[in-house]
Amino acid sequence: MSKLWANSGDSHFLEPEDLWRSNLPPHLAELMPRSERDPSGEFETVHVDGQSFTRKLPGAAQAEFLEASSRAPGARDVAKRIVDLDEEGIWGEVVFPSLGMWNASFRTREALREAIKVSNDWACSEILRASPRMVPTAQISMLSIEDAVAEVERTAELGFRAVFLPTTPPSSTPDYNRDDWEPFWSACEAARMVVAFHIGTDPVDFSAGENLGAFFRGPGAAVLNYTETTFSGQRATMKMVASGALDRHPDLRVLVSEGGATWVPFLADRMTEGYRQHHMMVRPKLSRSPQEILYTQVYASFQHDRSAVGAVTAMGYQNVMWGSDYPHMEGTFGHTQDTLHELFDDVDDQTRYRVTVGAFLDLFPEVGAPPALLTTT
Ligand code: MN
Repeated sequence: MSKLWANSGDSHFLEPEDLWRSNLPPHLAELMPRSERDPSGEFETVHVDGQSFTRKLPGAAQAEFLEASSRAPGARDVAKRIVDLDEEGIWGEVVFPSLGMWNASFRTREALREAIKVSNDWACSEILRASPRMVPTAQISMLSIEDAVAEVERTAELGFRAVFLPTTPPSSTPDYNRDDWEPFWSACEAARMVVAFHIGTDPVDFSAGENLGAFFRGPGAAVLNYTETTFSGQRATMKMVASGALDRHPDLRVLVSEGGATWVPFLADRMTEGYRQHHMMVRPKLSRSPQEILYTQVYASFQHDRSAVGAVTAMGYQNVMWGSDYPHMEGTFGHTQDTLHELFDDVDDQTRYRVTVGAFLDLFPEVGAPPALLTTT
């Protein structure tokens, strides 16, 4: 079985847990998230930015899940990660942060702005500078669009090529279809920063206690909750298309990671029908159809989906990008070669190259194609 190589539109890095506390001045460090365990070992109290939430500690199944999601040797170490990637057959990868999940829990503008800077400076020296194969995503504050603009410009200067946005802003911040975001979209377009949404990153309400992150309860809840996270990326994309944000910024590119691919042709049909049939109510008018905007400016990464390649061959949507989701449980770590062969052995060379390499290089050309491909073709 020959080795297949691919670039990956979706991976994650675990930052040091004390990164923020140990790099911020004391008056901000004390606002950073920290956890205290109840003596019984059943509950923990999480303190973040002057708020405290008590929640049940993970049960056995959840603890096993969390452990499995960080088990890969390179989860926290770039040198070990490169060894893993070479073994798996992955060349370049988009890398999402992990501490960013706290973003929506902050209330103090200065605290979040400075914590984000620490994260980005760390990702710059430990990931971006460590290997040209890594495309770390910059983080931005979701408490102030002005701060977000400043940080996206600062990180672009450092060499970042993508910025991570949660799929929904916190309730205190305008939603992505609002014109308040216009300066941010302009800054991203001017700096050629790809807007990278990762599914399942809607704000987490830590006061929800043991219901944390659970949209559904009861029979089937694990699969229901897993599937539900997918829709957040679709909603974020719809807002950027319908509001005209992508139409006004034709050089802006959006990547939605981990959410599959056939939803883009599906949304294109629905949005184009709505735009045409409800034309008397549609504001703003767009210079191109929703389908054209989606098909040219939106990229979608998937890991196992059997239907994703068909989005290219049967639906004419070319911006389908494979992703490993390393090192998470939903990803392909440990079976990447099996997955790539299952997906691509019966696919023509041009389509396979498009999904495993070409779409990625549209967004991040400096990463290049896997050298193994260049020597054999
Ligand atoms: Mn992922």
